[in-house]
Amino acid sequence: MAQTAELIAVGTELLLGSIANTDAQMISRELSALGINVFYHTVVGDNLERVKAAVEAAKSRADLIITTGGLGPTCDDLTKNALAAAFDRKLVYDAASASRIRAFFARIGRPMTENNLQQAYLPEGSLILQNDWGTAPGCMFRSNGVMVVMLPGPPRECEAMLRNRVLPYLFPLSDGVIVSRTLKLFGIGEAAMEARLRERMNAMENPTLAPYAKEGETELRITAKAETEAKARAMVIPVEADLKKEFGDLIYGVDVASLEERVLELLKARKLTLSAAESCTGGLVAKRMTDLPGASAVFRGGVVSYTDEVKHKVLGVPQELLRRNGAVSRAVAEAMAKGVRQLTGSDLAVAITGVAGPDPDERKNPVGLVYLALTDGEKTWVYESRSGGSRGRIRTMAAHTALDLLRRYLTDAPIPEDAGGYSPDSPCPYFS
Ligand code: ATP
Ligand code: MG
Repeated sequence: MAQTAELIAVGTELLLGSIANTDAQMISRELSALGINVFYHTVVGDNLERVKAAVEAAKSRADLIITTGGLGPTCDDLTKNALAAAFDRKLVYDAASASRIRAFFARIGRPMTENNLQQAYLPEGSLILQNDWGTAPGCMFRSNGVMVVMLPGPPRECEAMLRNRVLPYLFPLSDGVIVSRTLKLFGIGEAAMEARLRERMNAMENPTLAPYAKEGETELRITAKAETEAKARAMVIPVEADLKKEFGDLIYGVDVASLEERVLELLKARKLTLSAAESCTGGLVAKRMTDLPGASAVFRGGVVSYTDEVKHKVLGVPQELLRRNGAVSRAVAEAMAKGVRQLTGSDLAVAITGVAGPDPDERKNPVGLVYLALTDGEKTWVYESRSGGSRGRIRTMAAHTALDLLRRYLTDAPIPEDAGGYSPDSPCPYFS
């Protein structure tokens, strides 16, 4: 099995800082889940000699080399020339790839220029990886114990090719089957989560446990390796149960993409509809809900009530309340939630009003202070949240918190008491 891997990203735009090397991030994640160690990421411009030198270096120290980019039809696409040179192989014409490229252009109804057929030349003796997501085929070959994989640069193509064309070859090589489950958490920072797991994590070899932090959320990925899938699954179960006991309702889902996806799934299951009134988040909750296909079944609409006037005129928040308490207040959050629920006729409604910064508001409310309300028409919960960081982060956290309040309501999990004072040591002071 290829135990150590090296990624070579080819593209001058990566070196110029025009784009980030997200392909490497994606591939590294996938490989680490397979238990393959990635020791180097190299980024090299569109220059034949330098790409060849990068490949030569990788060849001497890795069992698996994956290149990305530089496969296209233009003359700066030279990855395969560099690979062919470094591994002393000719480039040979692959008729099947050529006809696929022709068919691709016919399908999208665009004329094909001859240079597109450059893409049909691939290193001799390689397995061709058919690209159903774009034009440039990838390929893989073995040479003196080194496995070489060449993938297209566009992230969508790169990911689809890796998952569908490459991983099936790596699985059998990884002497066993890999099963992984990802627990998603909200309300606990990565450091706090790791501190609670450190001893267990260090003692674990198979399954392994990997924590990740992502924009105010955290993840725990359990990965088990065994001879059969059933065995690997059986190994994951007790670890998952143990983590559920440890973190309880901080876990909002397993193998779900996001909080909003979980909320959508729960609203559908309970046949409930939702609306949102948003001030400092400017519609983030509405955006995140409506990003999901199928949202129309449960999301009725939202109001971005950025000024007092809109809060009053559209949502019916009493002027007296706004004058007395200010827009960033418990009472106004509550009135906004009730107002938007009535306006849209939804079953549930959430409201968000707060100070996203960078400056405190005119009432000297601190940056990061956000009031969130959730109402079902009978009962209304108001939650005071304090978070730190940039304007963007405060808004993201506020939207996360609103979605998580909904998730808690919909799963009958306790709705938390207000966050205590904000402490810079706990980046996600949801319940602390
Ligand atoms: P094409 O057929 O589109 O030319 P290609 O395989 O030749 O594909 P490149 O020309 O190197 O790939 O890159 C095409 C586009 O893919 C780039 O403009 C960039 O947007 C994206 N891309 C390339 N490499 C990476 C990378 N490592 N990470 C993220 N995006 C990338
Ligand atoms: Mg290209």
